[in-house]
Amino acid sequence: MEIQQNVPLAPFTTLGVGGPARFFAEALTVDEVREAVDFAKSHDAPLCVLGGGSNLVIADSGWPGLVLKVGIPGINHRHGRGTAYFDVGAGETWDDFVAAAVQHYCSGVECLSGIPGSVGGTPVQNVGAYGQEVSDTIDSVTALDLQNGQDEEFEKEECNFAYRSSFFNTAAKGRYIILRVSFALTHNGAPHLAYADLKKYFEGKSQPSLADIRQAVLEIRASKAMLIRPGDEDSRSAGSFFKNPILSAEEFDALNRKAQSLGLQIPSYPALAAQRKVPAAWLVENSGFIKGYGNGHVGISRKHALAIVNRGGASAAEIVRFKDEIQQRVQEHWGVRLEMEPVMVGF
Ligand SMILES: Cc1cc2nc3c(=O)[nH]c(=O)nc-3n(C[C@H](O)[C@H](O)[C@H](O)COP(=O)(O)OP(=O)(O)OC[C@H]3O[C@@H](n4cnc5c(N)ncnc54)[C@H](O)[C@@H]3O)c2cc1C
Repeated sequence: MEIQQNVPLAPFTTLGVGGPARFFAEALTVDEVREAVDFAKSHDAPLCVLGGGSNLVIADSGWPGLVLKVGIPGINHRHGRGTAYFDVGAGETWDDFVAAAVQHYCSGVECLSGIPGSVGGTPVQNVGAYGQEVSDTIDSVTALDLQNGQDEEFEKEECNFAYRSSFFNTAAKGRYIILRVSFALTHNGAPHLAYADLKKYFEGKSQPSLADIRQAVLEIRASKAMLIRPGDEDSRSAGSFFKNPILSAEEFDALNRKAQSLGLQIPSYPALAAQRKVPAAWLVENSGFIKGYGNGHVGISRKHALAIVNRGGASAAEIVRFKDEIQQRVQEHWGVRLEMEPVMVGF
């Protein structure tokens, strides 16, 4: 495995910002992952794990240690009674796995079509879209523990999955390198058709197949620039930049009263006990940041209010200033602190 030096990181991210890595390596096997970890230790170089770079904002100063891109390939599947188990290397492209699952008539991840990034990145923030979350179908996650050098297998329950969170981005943040993820899908299962946008798409049409759902999700995502497509400048982003805030009943009542006093209707969804989830996009748009806002290097996507877009030549500092402006204005208007979804690296 080659260890390169001073490698620009911006091209490894979907947002396209970030300075160089002091050291950079791509590991295609578990042994290479171990080799890279040993290298980092022996050079006293802090380790940063990279998947597809679709949920990152990397600082203009880059990363002072080793950036390790996990490229472990492989999609293997076996069928049990009605259940199909897919054992997938962390470096596989997420959407290639979804395509393979749909092709094999296996349901459980069809609504997650088109999410960029690697398979190993998905358990980290428990990716979700159009009514499915990856935690619905994860059976286990195998990861290398950087503290003791051992491989460990986590059952789904041990991963502490919640909305955009898991054991891996909370209590064990930075401790594990995910090597493989095993999914339990339903062979010949019915597609999941619960999300409003999807239901609308299929209104008046007959029962869609898994492939129909995948196609619909890809089309809807493309219309919102949430699908990375060459030439679509609005997709040069890190996806949704803010999480949907989860408010207590009292916090939601206060917010709702304020919205009503302004003649606005705030959408919301039930969350955990006595909590409401509020769309961050609504808060952003109703704080003056309409789609297409901004005319410098950085702006809001013309197709999605939650995506901060690098309009070309943006620096990480400009991105961060822009997100600060949004957070500040939403807080002033609505008293809600928006939490970032992408991970900041090197700040
Ligand atoms: C256009 C667009 C649309 C998006 N839509 C969605 C969406 O609908 N739903 C959603 O949930 N997300 C969405 N995202 C966010 C992003 O695609 C996901 O979070 C994705 O799973 C990140 O995976 P990655 O491999 O790119 O991770 P990276 O961005 O490379 O890394 C993200 C974090 O995961 C860690 N990580 C990555 N791989 C590993 C590994 N093997 N072991 C340990 N840690 C690892 C990194 O260290 C970092 O902390 C979108 C992003 C874009 C650009």
